[in-house]
Amino acid sequence: MQTSLTEPFKNSDAGQEAERILRACVHCGFCTATCPTYRLLGDELDGPRGRIYLIKQVLEGHQVTAKTQAHLDRCLTCRACESTCPSGVQYGRLVEIGRHVVEQRVGRPWREQFIHGALRALVPYTARFGALLNLGRALKPLLPKSLAQKIPARQHSKPWPEQSHRRKMLVLDGCVQPVTAPNTNAAAARVLDRLNIQLIRATGAGCCGAVNQHLSARDQAFDDMRRNIDAWWPHIDAGAEAIVMTASGCGIIVKDYGELLKHDAVYAEKARRVADLTRDISEILAAEDLSALRNATRGIKVAFHAPCTLQHGQQLKHLVEKILRGAGYILTPVDDSHLCCGSAGTYSVLQPRLSGQLLDNKLQSLSAGMPDYIATANIGCQLHMATKANVPVKAWIELLDR
Ligand code: SF4
Ligand code: SF4
Repeated sequence: MQTSLTEPFKNSDAGQEAERILRACVHCGFCTATCPTYRLLGDELDGPRGRIYLIKQVLEGHQVTAKTQAHLDRCLTCRACESTCPSGVQYGRLVEIGRHVVEQRVGRPWREQFIHGALRALVPYTARFGALLNLGRALKPLLPKSLAQKIPARQHSKPWPEQSHRRKMLVLDGCVQPVTAPNTNAAAARVLDRLNIQLIRATGAGCCGAVNQHLSARDQAFDDMRRNIDAWWPHIDAGAEAIVMTASGCGIIVKDYGELLKHDAVYAEKARRVADLTRDISEILAAEDLSALRNATRGIKVAFHAPCTLQHGQQLKHLVEKILRGAGYILTPVDDSHLCCGSAGTYSVLQPRLSGQLLDNKLQSLSAGMPDYIATANIGCQLHMATKANVPVKAWIELLDR
């Protein structure tokens, strides 16, 4: 695709990256058919090819309107289009650059600014989010059904193993997961303990930075990243083998720390090292002998929802399914497994109508094989699907810890 980006922007890092990505797109449209929002809305501008065209116009200095912003806001950043694209167009990176420029040029109405601000002030902070969640649980009987069903029930965590092992790995605690699904990391610790690996939580680590990053607050996102690097570094120095991610939405960001902080004179090198050490829990387990994990799971049926951040963002496909089958579970077939469930970070809050339609479609596909459980690999998808699913929705690592 020919481009003619505006002069000052063209010479910036973001401008050069955007130009390279735009030029890779041949406008073939193969990506359109796999885009969840295009499939729901049928508008070219709500599909990847149309959005790429809009971003090109923005970066070439054409007029930007609230309508342009709305088309970009409706994108889930699921990156299904990247999985389909034969030309390797890095759409996810392009839309991030495009959103940032659009935000600066058209701003947002005060109501949207308030919601974005509230999400950024609450979600990345475990204590604040936990306090709000407790309040929501206390008031649940008084809330309208649509709001009450979004409040997850309290989950009790099984104990964290105390055994010390020579092999040690770090785990990201994250922000929302410790208060909504504390058993996920505990299950990962117990599974790894059976493989003679000790899982360590680093004091001071927290949100991976995804919430701020997705809401175009890059400086705050970088602060989150630097705080995590500082918390992990003593353990890395002491020989931790890996940084384990039990939520794929966090994993995709931490694996990108090296790229995101490459211009930070103090943290660039450390960020690269952190990114190199980061692995999804499925990658860790796939490299180990799992014969010790086979258990009494025969006949239990599981429908696995592969989060977009796992299958498209990290390109980790079918690993979890293989591990669950190896442990004795029966995996039920899931139609349109490449499509997003509608969670997509803060999307379910910011785009509730589209998110709800995607959720209904996803649960219909997942329920077709009459599973005993729905399993997934990301806390956002887990909480979103649990609001309406008629079987328990679990982190898949919990199933391995039965
Ligand atoms: S992003 Fe890829 S698949 Fe989509 S129009 Fe461009 S080249 Fe074709
Ligand atoms: S990231 Fe997902 S929603 Fe956005 S354009 Fe690509 S396929 Fe469509």
